[in-house]
Amino acid sequence: MTTILDGKKTAQDIRSEVAAEVAAMVEAGDRRPGLAVVLAGDDPASKVYVGSKVKACEEVGMVSRLVDLPGDVTAEKLASVIDELNADPAIDGFLIQLPLPGHLPERELLARVSPDKDVDGFHAVNVGRLWLGEQTFAPATPSGIIELLRRYEIPMEGARAVIVGRSNIVGKPMAALLIRENATVTVCHSRTRDLPAVCREADILVAAIGRTGFVGPDAVKEGATVIDVGMNRITEREQLEHLFPGDERRREIFERRGSTLTGDVDFTRVREKAAAITPVPGGVGPLTVAMLLVNSLTASRRRQGLADG
Ligand code: NDP
Repeated sequence: MTTILDGKKTAQDIRSEVAAEVAAMVEAGDRRPGLAVVLAGDDPASKVYVGSKVKACEEVGMVSRLVDLPGDVTAEKLASVIDELNADPAIDGFLIQLPLPGHLPERELLARVSPDKDVDGFHAVNVGRLWLGEQTFAPATPSGIIELLRRYEIPMEGARAVIVGRSNIVGKPMAALLIRENATVTVCHSRTRDLPAVCREADILVAAIGRTGFVGPDAVKEGATVIDVGMNRITEREQLEHLFPGDERRREIFERRGSTLTGDVDFTRVREKAAAITPVPGGVGPLTVAMLLVNSLTASRRRQGLADG
């Protein structure tokens, strides 16, 4: 029987734990943790992500602040917003929703965020600390995957892990975190030769590519754990029928919305071989927001001189 790794339920558990910790801090007379989210422009997907982060923050009892800036905001203005948040005693952590509008120097602005408030873990200092094995903020998506594997007691120590994708927000930090867990890690990308053969060596296979159904059963070892990070929207009925044959629930969603969310893994066929697999939606996605809350709580505890929870 294949285990469906329920990211939604795991994320809810994590959120409840964070809420309990926030309540305990306030009860003990400590300051309520505060998170700010900076949004520049009106990209619809970014607005949805930012909305869910702010809402999640409020639900666990943290102070939340949304800094909503116009799409034509200048680099100077955004830099001054970052400086203010860096100095604001009520804000323990903040993030700048990416992608930024094209005219803004993304890397330069991210470098301006104080590493101690960088709850996304994108600052070069935190990336360095992650690879050095020092105290840091690790990016939320790969941290959530580690948490999911831990809670489902999937052994990482000594396991052969293969990651497809080498982005700064998923693939690379995923590699660092799996190495920290004593896995033997291979990172693949678009130039990897005979990708399916490399993937077939994986006990733990992480797909973070951005291509619908890219990982098929030919790339999966019998009994592997498959983690699907991909978030792709399909609008073609043919693709729907191919990827989810006979799935009435999917079809109903597709009819209603004209699209459905899919991952990078051909879930229907791969689940036949995998011992455990994340669905999309309801797998890695919800964990990302939950781990952002964990990082914010950690930032607050550190800033208030409390031990990491
Ligand atoms: P990027 O586009 O930054 O990186 C994609 C990676 O996939 C690159 O390293 C690229 O290789 C590799 N790749 C592309 N095509 C191939 C191929 N044919 N064979 C092998 N490797 C290939 O994407 P992200 O890491 O930002 O995101 C990946 C997916 O995860 C997306 O669907 C995104 O929406 C989703 N995502 C989901 C999150 C969640 O919370 N669930 C959070 C973040 C992302 P190369 O470097 O050689 O170009």
